[in-house]
Amino acid sequence: MAAALRGSISRGALFRTLQTTLQPKVPVRCLNLLEYQSKVLLDNHGVTVQKFRILDSHKNATEASKTLNAAEYVVKAQILAGGRGKGHFDNGFQGGVHLTKDCNEVAYLVEKMVGHKLITKQTPKDGILVSKVMVAESVDILRETYFCILMDREHNGPVMIASPDGGMDIEEVAEKTPERLLTQPIDIHEGITDDMALKVADFLKFEGPLREKCAKEVKGIWKMFLGVDATQIEINPLIETPQGQVVAVDAKIQFDDNAEFRQKDIFALEDSSESDPREVDAASHDLTYIGMDGNIGCLVNGAGLAMATMDIIKLHGGSPANFLDLGGGVQEHQVEHAVRILTSDDSVKALFVNIFGGIVNTATIASGLVKVLKDRDIKIPLVVRLEGTNVEEAKRILIESGCPIQSASDLDEGAKKAVAAIS
Ligand code: GDP
Ligand code: MG
Repeated sequence: MAAALRGSISRGALFRTLQTTLQPKVPVRCLNLLEYQSKVLLDNHGVTVQKFRILDSHKNATEASKTLNAAEYVVKAQILAGGRGKGHFDNGFQGGVHLTKDCNEVAYLVEKMVGHKLITKQTPKDGILVSKVMVAESVDILRETYFCILMDREHNGPVMIASPDGGMDIEEVAEKTPERLLTQPIDIHEGITDDMALKVADFLKFEGPLREKCAKEVKGIWKMFLGVDATQIEINPLIETPQGQVVAVDAKIQFDDNAEFRQKDIFALEDSSESDPREVDAASHDLTYIGMDGNIGCLVNGAGLAMATMDIIKLHGGSPANFLDLGGGVQEHQVEHAVRILTSDDSVKALFVNIFGGIVNTATIASGLVKVLKDRDIKIPLVVRLEGTNVEEAKRILIESGCPIQSASDLDEGAKKAVAAIS
């Protein structure tokens, strides 16, 4: 089943499905973009955003901000989490969003941010390392509102959510003042009509000429929602300026991973620097890694087998440390890399190789295992269950190698042995 799946959906999508299925308590891993990347997309779809430059050091910050020709600048740390304005850095510096009228101060602010971790309500407790900072022309803010389009399970389709109370935590608005939240389902075929867009503008209290302007932004955001296969575009805040503009000041976008095949340019923007390095290492060898919190390292092929392996290990009282999925057309060198990744993790106390070879040639796996066992001094117990294509040859390779392998004839026996090897 997994092999069939693999043919029809992308590796990234398979990975994310697998991860969500295996770890329902962990937030869904889907493509997120940094604010500045989101703003490029918004701009391309005619949504009003501020002009900006991106900096990765304070060195050219002063010159770069001068090119914006702005009376005031806003300097914003770029991380995949919100709440930056109210956050703080591991060096004690307060706030991931700052305003200044002085180009030289932009450089000072950038220096305080780059290379440091920003801790906000939405980051892990140690924060997230900042490697890029946006400097943008600041806008004067008269009012902050909230606007979002998202795919909603409850409505079986897209909905708009709007509130005149922007800039703050929208969950709090929903809880304390639900009357200040508008939820409007969208017919995916009809889209957002002029009437619907104007109704949102009214609810957000954009008046006079601003009413039409807000409606235009709303329709631009909808156009983009469809165009980029988004599952969520959240603008918080969508602001009103004293000069009569409507501007998207902050943006958070999530994408439908199943659309990766037709949104290649967007998915290529994915920033791996915040991902688990083992995940990135695995992906660079065309392997899929999923970290968990147990102590049995699992080398498997296919999403279905990974899930079954987890169930059986748990049934026997054990707990997986991770899954490394070899996929279909696996080569010997990938097996070596996989074992290297799994055994370099200190939490892994035993290794369970569980392969059901359909497309996979189990003899290739056996040769890869033997090679890595001869090259590396692996101190943890290794339990191997191979089944399927060319399995007799695979077993012969393992036996003749003389390597310290505990073999298992089926999944159940393998899981039992792996659990016993630890306890
Ligand atoms: P977040 O804290 O991660 O959600 O980052 P935001 O981009 O939403 O910025 C936080 C807050 O900073 C906003 O709600 C605004 O109040 C303020 N802010 C952001 N950009 C500007 C700007 O260009 N001008 C002004 N005056 N305030 C801004
Ligand atoms: Mg915000």
